[in-house]
Parts: sequence; structure tokens; C-alpha cells
Amino acid sequence: MKNKTPTLLCVHAHPDDESSKGAPTVAKYKQLGARCILVTATGGEEGDILNPKMDKEEVRENLAAVREAELQEATKVIGYDEVIKLGYRDSGMPGSEANKRPDAFYNIPIEDSTDHLVEILREQQPQVVITYPEDQSGYPHPDHLRVHDISVRAFDLAGDPDYKPELGQPFQPLKLYYSLWTKAKILAIVERFEKLGLESPFPKDRLEREGQDHLVTTQIDVADFLDIQRRALLAHQTQIDPTSPFWFGLPTEEQADAYSSEDYHLAKSKVEVSSISNGTLETDLFDGIELSFP
Ligand SMILES: [Zn+2]
Repeated sequence: MKNKTPTLLCVHAHPDDESSKGAPTVAKYKQLGARCILVTATGGEEGDILNPKMDKEEVRENLAAVREAELQEATKVIGYDEVIKLGYRDSGMPGSEANKRPDAFYNIPIEDSTDHLVEILREQQPQVVITYPEDQSGYPHPDHLRVHDISVRAFDLAGDPDYKPELGQPFQPLKLYYSLWTKAKILAIVERFEKLGLESPFPKDRLEREGQDHLVTTQIDVADFLDIQRRALLAHQTQIDPTSPFWFGLPTEEQADAYSSEDYHLAKSKVEVSSISNGTLETDLFDGIELSFP
């Protein structure tokens, strides 16, 4: 069966990742008429409270429920049609006690968590899937590493007619993207902070870190959707300090003017993408897919 509705599915690790990574892109495709689905692997139970105003006992005690409500609010702002939770527990930062819990996402056998995603892909039938890149050395959270691994596996297995028919009718997504954070973007933003006489919130080591610029195949112009991202971030009250210069230091018009796109790497494709074959950047995640937006 072929899905005729343009459908975009994003896989994330914790509530708030869907707002900090790729939210403007999803908001854009939602406005174009795509069906947008979020898969979140964990409840973010191990997250710290990063907004001092929310650091209260009743919040700490109910963090999973609070983060669930924040997730619902943020995804409404972004425009997700559906939020599917894999229901695993946050594995915590590397080396923390939470790493050892058997219900932590990272400790679930990878075949099981992959199958969970295969079943969702077969049911939801997205043509386009976005996940995290292979190299996450800048932020090697075990749950983020695992999101990448199950996404890459599930992308191939979902369409394999011989693989576990009990997980649903085989469906092959057509394109798999990695979301990237490029040095070009950081430098453009830092430069804008300085030009406006504002102090850059990017620590020096961040500027020295190797970027993933060489992987960019695709740039999505999201100038008109940066406000939506800010509103989605603010919904994550425990995770995002509304005074954070990192997220809110530049007016959105300045951010859009300094660097208006989100950068992606087309990691797997079942369709021919003419821009990439011609050596130019792709500007639409659905390029090469024969589907029409409403
Ligand atoms: Zn995360």
C-alpha cells in the first residue's frame, strides 16, 4: 500500500529534543500540508531542571508527568499531528546511575526497540524520516546514540518483505535524513551577536569543535518558522530557561538574516534527487518523491 499524503516522521530521544532540533522544519512542512509525526523514545526522567524558576520540589517529584505535559504543549505549537512515545526510560548522561537500570532505553535489546520503530513506520508510512547523525561525539548521550542506531536499522527493515510480517505490512520509507549542527551556522550567529554588540553565549570550545558542514546535502529555509521554535522551546519550562541567551539572545529577524536554514544530510534515499546528483544542495525534503502537497 502506498501512502499518498506527504508524511514526515522525526525520531527523538527526550521531550524537548523535538523543539531544539528541527522544529522549524516540521512547522514548515506542516504548513505546506504534510502530516507530521513525532516518535519520542523516553520520558526524559533523568533531565535536570534548567530553569531556576521551575526548580521546586513538586516539579522534581513529578518530573516525568511535568515533561509529558510540556511535550504535549510544545508539539501542539510546532504542529505535529501525532506524538508516539516508545515508552522507554531515560538512560541518563554517560556514567550516571540511571545507565544501569534495565528499563533504560539503552539497555533495551536493540532488536526490540528497533522492532518497535519498524511497527510504527509500517503503520504510519512516512516517506521521509529524520533522525540524529552517526557522529554525535559533541553530545554522546546514550539515548541519542540509540535513536540513531534504531532509526537506521528500522528504515531498512520496515520495507523488507521477509522481516517479521507480524509487525505490519512492509512499507519502505524513501528518504532518511540526519539533522546536523554546522559550524557555518554557529559562526554566522556568533558574528551577528558581536555585530549587535551582544555577548555571544557560545563557549569557546564549541567554536573550536569540528563541524558537520562537510555532510550537508540539504538546506531547508526556515526563516519564517523561527518564532514557532522559540514558542515550542518555552513550553519546556523545566528544560529551557526563558532568559537563556543561547536560545533567545538574538531577535528572530536577526537570526533569520544571519542564517536562515536548518541543515541535513541525506543518509539513505530510494529515489533519485536531481539537485544532489548535480552537485548542488537540495532545498526540499520531499524532492524526488512523486507526491503532491494539497
Ligand atoms: Zn535529548
